[in-house]
Amino acid sequence: MDTAEGRAARWVPASYGPLLLIFAHPDDETFTSAGTVAAAMALGIDAVAISATRGEGGKTGIPHLDTPDVLGAVREQELRAAMAIVGVRDIRFLDYRDSGMAGAPENADRHAFMRAPVQDVVSKLVPHVRAVQLSTVITFGPDGLYGHPDHVAIHRAATAAVHAAADPACLSGVFAPWRTPSLYYATIPRERMQRLVDRPDGPLRDLPRKQRDRLGTPAAAITTVIDVSPHREVKGRAIAAHRTQTGEGGPLSGMPEEHREAHLSREHFVRVRLPWDPAAPAPLGSDLLSDLAATRPTRPA
Ligand SMILES: [Zn+2]
Repeated sequence: MDTAEGRAARWVPASYGPLLLIFAHPDDETFTSAGTVAAAMALGIDAVAISATRGEGGKTGIPHLDTPDVLGAVREQELRAAMAIVGVRDIRFLDYRDSGMAGAPENADRHAFMRAPVQDVVSKLVPHVRAVQLSTVITFGPDGLYGHPDHVAIHRAATAAVHAAADPACLSGVFAPWRTPSLYYATIPRERMQRLVDRPDGPLRDLPRKQRDRLGTPAAAITTVIDVSPHREVKGRAIAAHRTQTGEGGPLSGMPEEHREAHLSREHFVRVRLPWDPAAPAPLGSDLLSDLAATRPTRPA
């Protein structure tokens, strides 16, 4: 039977280790990668999600919710619910505080993630990278999608942790060194984000204009596009589980329909070259995300 799952099953070995999602806030992994995770899970490939914070620095406008401890507890449960919809049960936190948007008062909190020395974060991440024996790490790129200081911080720490985990001299004795087979930065095409920012009714309307030129990744620099449309319903439900973000009045409510449709159907990544990578392009069967990208799901007419 020539279905998406059938083709993927032929091309994607089930022997891949888990995906490891390393992000800053509950919802980062859902918005950028839930469809890809669902596609992997459908093939029996597990995933583990690490969030540096509990997203407690945001503002919902909902009475009694906007204190860091309450909001952090709520957003932790939202992440657990969203990932459960996709099939991910292993959720881990690094216990930093959400730094809030650049310039927010939360930036000054001494536990704010953006203030954590990168080496401290790397030391926390390396045991996870080694213990999970993962196949692919997904995190943010240097753009942090829209420059959020925590997104940029997790990009730096996760990238450094992938390198450090392979180094026998790093945290010697803490699990065996692990060479991450592939590292990807999750992103959204810059051109699409700019169209969203330009909409006066869009959820990014409050983003400073000077960030417009640095949003996401130019389409030409994206290496890997995964058609996640067979999993759009699951991804939609996972996004909806982040109710303090996507519920009425939340910061990401009111996504215009064409953007919502594009967001649910395609996920975009940049493959990052690692020192131990074999020559590109990765042959079929050697890299989970390029296998998934090579799968062309058949869609109903
Ligand atoms: Zn975030």
